[in-house]
Amino acid sequence: MAALEDINVTTLKGVGSALAGTLAKLGIHSLQDLLFHLPHRYEDRTRIIPIGSLHVGDVGVVEGEVVKSDLVMGRRRSLQVTVRDSSGFLVLRFFHFNASQKNQLSEGARIRCFGEVRPGRAGFEFYHPEYQVNPPPMPAPERATLTPVYPLTEGIQQPRVRSLCQQALHYLDRYPVKEWLPDALLADFQMPGINEALRLVHAPPAGAPVPALLEGRHPAQQRLVMEELLAHQLSLLRVREQIQSREALALLPRGDLPDRFRDQLPFQLTQAQERVLLDIRQDLSQPLPMLRLVQGDVGSGKTVVAALAALQAISSGAQVALMAPTEILAEQHYLNFQGWFEPLGLEPAWLSGKVKGKVRQATLERVASGDARIVIGTHALFQDDVAFDRLALVIVDEQHRFGVHQRLALREKGAAGSLAPHQLIMTATPIPRTLAMSAYADLDTSLIDELPPGRKPIETIAIADARRDEVISRVEDACRAGRQAYWVCTLIEESEALQCQAAEVTAEDLRERLPDLKVGLVHGRLKAQEKAGIMQQFKDGILDLLVATTVIEVGVDVPNASLIIIENPERLGLAQLHQLRGRVGRGHEASFCVLMYHPPLSQNGKARLQVLRDSQDGFVIAEKDLEIRGPGEVLGTRQTGMMQFRLADFERDKGWIPVVREAAPSLMGDRQRVEALIRRWLGERIRYGDV
Ligand code: ADP
Ligand code: MG
Repeated sequence: MAALEDINVTTLKGVGSALAGTLAKLGIHSLQDLLFHLPHRYEDRTRIIPIGSLHVGDVGVVEGEVVKSDLVMGRRRSLQVTVRDSSGFLVLRFFHFNASQKNQLSEGARIRCFGEVRPGRAGFEFYHPEYQVNPPPMPAPERATLTPVYPLTEGIQQPRVRSLCQQALHYLDRYPVKEWLPDALLADFQMPGINEALRLVHAPPAGAPVPALLEGRHPAQQRLVMEELLAHQLSLLRVREQIQSREALALLPRGDLPDRFRDQLPFQLTQAQERVLLDIRQDLSQPLPMLRLVQGDVGSGKTVVAALAALQAISSGAQVALMAPTEILAEQHYLNFQGWFEPLGLEPAWLSGKVKGKVRQATLERVASGDARIVIGTHALFQDDVAFDRLALVIVDEQHRFGVHQRLALREKGAAGSLAPHQLIMTATPIPRTLAMSAYADLDTSLIDELPPGRKPIETIAIADARRDEVISRVEDACRAGRQAYWVCTLIEESEALQCQAAEVTAEDLRERLPDLKVGLVHGRLKAQEKAGIMQQFKDGILDLLVATTVIEVGVDVPNASLIIIENPERLGLAQLHQLRGRVGRGHEASFCVLMYHPPLSQNGKARLQVLRDSQDGFVIAEKDLEIRGPGEVLGTRQTGMMQFRLADFERDKGWIPVVREAAPSLMGDRQRVEALIRRWLGERIRYGDV
């Protein structure tokens, strides 16, 4: 018997090749695809709202008598129709209309219309409402149903999608969709079966609970949400399985490199660092590729942990690649590792897109011959022309969630082709627990949940930029008292050039106004050596004040700096602000962070700055960031579709995450089920590797 997923949409009445092409843009090819194209909301057309009780932004049905119909010649010609019911007046405004519409909407006509309330000159208005003249009686409340609203693409309108879905529903009787959720799970949560759920969401029956449906909390919706989250979880577990289907070099620690490294450190590792290292050491000594995420707050000391992991690989004769998402971050790591490893007789290699010509050639040779035991750089590390000798460990410092396809691609760079490298992922700032559970389901997680001893709390204040003079004298006082300060310039533009320019102007201004202080400037366009020179001067206390772009977000470590001014903090994400603030609070003095915002702040902007003032715990801040910005922004993967759900809403539905996480591993054995669920919910996105 044919299955719904084998029946092409062109089977439906009115679907020719043109419409099929449009539907394909929505990922819809089969009738099953169509039924899994789910309404993302509903309109409530079940009752007539008295005009007098409308508010701006309300969406709904009103009914009344046309009392006036005028052609208005404003900037744009429009037809303005005034409708009255017993509670008030409402204006319908049409910018496009034809003669017959104008006739229909004349004085005395009885009309029912559906629209969204906007403020108008003389009261509320509907623009281009859907309307009916001489409407039939409203269905009795017990027969009224909600109207589904579907995601659209160019070339197709709501009513068309609606009617196609209704047609497809008729096929469900003969070709029911396969139930892939285990009976036990359905029973535990008293969830309806898949066919019942699909029917209900596409055509809510009269009397179905309206508020639950509008909020997406109806059991039928929740069942689908659960299945969707499960499908995402399974797809990540499958990636993990694919990577681990290869063997890896078992890296057994040999020699004394790690011990010599520890001996030269001016501090002892924290217990948390030791615990995480133990996890890593065990993973690395297995002939199975490690897939481990290390999370820790700003300043918790992830880099040292990465260095020790690298040394375990190097000391057992293998090669290591360390990749960072930006040139600047990669460079910070390079300088750090250079300082640490050269005394051990190891010289890291540096590779970025900017390394060209002879230097590039020489570097590639060092990497290919295995002379370079560790290579540090950007994505350029994984271009085709880069051949490794015995690459066995890849360390990725992630700012944002790396695409899964990229993670899969790393597998191909392993030693001797058939062996996959171990992967160690470090995140710049903590990721909320539920988000990590779902977005990083392909990785094991270790937490560095402790800061090195002696870190001081940072007092954070928000000040409007009108009080810039006050802020400047505060900087002056601090520096006179022997401390050092950062002044961070931000810009909305992505352009690095403009950022640098802004920092230059600010530095000039501050030099003029603070003639007694030594003011330095760093930004991304300086050469690595210049940058390092200035940083060294700041470290040595030769400079009092360092003006910088967000370059200093990463890796900069000057304990005597106890004041940081961040201009226009409203332009940055919470995680980034938390990173920046983490540049101070590293010494013995009380530290301060001044967020100098440009008023007026939006409601949301105020809430965000308040979060920073209230907390210094990166995990708490990450949770708030998730609430305020949503998972796509927090992961920085809005473009790639990661965490873009059809029905699930991360905030609303995060209660399912632990359930799905618990259920998924035991389902992995059933290939057919796994593939079917992934295809059903992720469809083409999997093929394009976008997840
Ligand atoms: P992050 O986790 O934010 O990447 P880093 O690895 O840059 O943090 O470490 C922050 C600073 O703390 C660095 O100067 C590092 O040398 C120092 N550090 C790391 N571990 C310890 C420790 N156990 N005790 C004291 N200082 C440490
Ligand atoms: Mg770091």
